[in-house]
Amino acid sequence: MIDIYTMGIDVGSTTSKCLILKNGKEITGKSLVGVGAGTSGPERAIQSVLSSSKLELEDLDYIMSTGYGRHTIEIADSEMSELSCHARGAYFQFPNVRTIIDIGGQDAKVLHVGDDGMLVNFAMNDKCSAGTGRFLEVMARALEVNVEELASMSQLSKNNITISSTCTVFAESEVISQLAKNTDRCDIIKGIHRSIASRVGALARRNGVIDDVVMTGGVAKNRGVLHALEEELGHKIYTSELAQYNGALGAALFAYQKLSR
Ligand code: ADP
Repeated sequence: MIDIYTMGIDVGSTTSKCLILKNGKEITGKSLVGVGAGTSGPERAIQSVLSSSKLELEDLDYIMSTGYGRHTIEIADSEMSELSCHARGAYFQFPNVRTIIDIGGQDAKVLHVGDDGMLVNFAMNDKCSAGTGRFLEVMARALEVNVEELASMSQLSKNNITISSTCTVFAESEVISQLAKNTDRCDIIKGIHRSIASRVGALARRNGVIDDVVMTGGVAKNRGVLHALEEELGHKIYTSELAQYNGALGAALFAYQKLSR
């Protein structure tokens, strides 16, 4: 049997992700570049996944683009909305998923999927950076830590601090004034995680939260936010090492479906 290779490329606002699937089920390679739409990120992500998979562009049978910058990918055979791709990617990883919470660089979305894995409805915040990865990046900078350190530092928190401003700019001022009062940074970080959870929790409650709940997007790597969301919603939340690649995975799965039709 000849192997079929499909590639999904997810061009986000903040990062570019590529994933190659063999025969619609086996992940051959994946890549992530820390810049997104309108940059060299997509091209670099494509080159990187091809070289790590030891494949050439000609070996790919179908390329599907998704994400905010999906229209810019000239080599793509077609494109698909990131909502559909997130639904498909999460269903592939977690067949019992019904609610997906996706927090990316500049937006947060809550999706419902049916028992066939198809998108049923969604709620989205893309009007304001509060409750997104950008919010965490701004706060991390004010605290002089990397976003990768936020989760482990929040685990050391001993006191509850409330960050009450929902606006990123005002919340940053609150963080700076807490630092000026010598408040422990770990407590501030936990407060920041609770603030995101409250914002995204309100979005999730709009259409209801149905088990199983799965978290995707780059912010899912921050287990502090994931645990704060579990507390906020009172539901267990599943995630995986592929959380940030979930859209690219969904796109590669749709690409395979196009060929099998
Ligand atoms: P988009 O698809 O919108 O470009 P992503 O889903 O790739 O965004 O998520 C990007 C966000 O993920 C960044 O804003 C950053 O805050 C967060 N992020 C990425 N890696 C980590 C990490 N290791 N720990 C915590 N947060 C992370």
